[in-house]
Amino acid sequence: MFNNLSDKLDKAFHILKGHGKITEVNVADTLKEVRRALLDADVNFKIAKDFTTRVKEKAIGQDVLTTLQPGQLLVKIVKDELTELMGGDAAGVNLSGNPSVILMSGLQGSGKTTFSGKLANFLQTKKNKKPLLVACDIYRPAAINQLHVVGEQIGVEVYSEPENKNPVEIAQNAIKHAKAKGYNVVIVDTAGRLAVDEEMMTEIANVHKAIQPQETLFVVDSMTGQDAVNTAKAFNDRLNFDGVILTKLDGDTRGGAAISIKSVVDKPIKFIGTGEKMDAIDIFYPSRMAERILGMGDVVSLVERAQEQYDEEEARKIQKKIAKNEFGFDDFLSQIQQVKKMGNMKDLVGMIPGAGKALKDVEIEDDAFKHIEAIIHSMTPQERSKPSIIDIKRKNRIAKGSGRKLEEVNQLMKQFDQMSKMMKMMQGPGGKNLMKMMGG
Ligand code: GDP
Repeated sequence: MFNNLSDKLDKAFHILKGHGKITEVNVADTLKEVRRALLDADVNFKIAKDFTTRVKEKAIGQDVLTTLQPGQLLVKIVKDELTELMGGDAAGVNLSGNPSVILMSGLQGSGKTTFSGKLANFLQTKKNKKPLLVACDIYRPAAINQLHVVGEQIGVEVYSEPENKNPVEIAQNAIKHAKAKGYNVVIVDTAGRLAVDEEMMTEIANVHKAIQPQETLFVVDSMTGQDAVNTAKAFNDRLNFDGVILTKLDGDTRGGAAISIKSVVDKPIKFIGTGEKMDAIDIFYPSRMAERILGMGDVVSLVERAQEQYDEEEARKIQKKIAKNEFGFDDFLSQIQQVKKMGNMKDLVGMIPGAGKALKDVEIEDDAFKHIEAIIHSMTPQERSKPSIIDIKRKNRIAKGSGRKLEEVNQLMKQFDQMSKMMKMMQGPGGKNLMKMMGG
């Protein structure tokens, strides 16, 4: 995400290297580059111009303290301004109603249906809510089916009336149904068109008026750049929505939408979508996003994801196995599964400070563990639990079975061996010294 923009900003800050103080003269070139980087990322012209003016006002004349280089100081100012531009503090959704009604709006293909499912799943698993999904698309039967598929995946009921052509009625009936059945959140997925049109706007405005949602969310595809901002404006003029959902931030987006939307419609971005799966949803934190845009990584989110996936019981089991020298490839596989649950590799790497930049030319596959898993799956259960029995003949057979090269099998065996030794060392009496050495 945002690789291009981070790169360009990084270059812009380099211009200041070697200067002791930020002056009107030496900062001009840097700011020109910052502005160009923003424009290239599809940030609105006026926003980019105002942005650099504000940064300049803050930067000029500041004495650079001993520990900070002027470039670093400017990065900090830019980071703070970016955070402000994207909304300051993170904004939550209003769940005060009973049921709380959430109306989803946006163009067709923006990711509305997918996000409705993600939000229902998020509220159900993380907020202990009982959500009901409502299919209000009266034009495309496929859209209703799609929501039913999503609902089934996450175990959430989907309310629909395939024969009814009145979305206002469907939404109202759904809310009645929710009250009768004890659902405390109702998420209404509406019809979208390929472009903003009057009929769609009137229809959703009518639904909005009739059901008085606690929260109206506008879903937009971040890949559409400036268009995203224009569509947001059109929807906001009619619906006065409460928040924005930016989808497809896992893709190769240039970042312009994330940066511009808040200042154009003055509504916060509340969530982001980072993949097609139901758990690819994140709360939007402007400061973390600013850090990612500047290539500073997002360690906080990374640690949070790790904590969410951390399974204490599993960890204890693994420790016992290591102590008894029984750690095998099956355990290795389950560790890989844990890491995979944290998200796709490209995203994870992007959250490590500096790594995004360092590895930008390295092709990281979404499923970076695919080959390793294939090799392990080609082993027999005995081989997996006791890797020492794998001799060259068996290695050849495993290579053939998994369709990988013998060298890859060798490499995996070696890595596994080193890892096992390392883990053993951390645990045994020597491990205590090692821990001490590392400051533990
Ligand atoms: P709708 O027409 O607005 O309801 O859009 P859909 O929910 O059907 O999504 C359109 C396409 O975008 C589908 O193929 C989704 O799988 C995909 N999609 C939705 N959200 C994301 C996301 O955050 N990341 C990626 N990569 N794809 C997404």
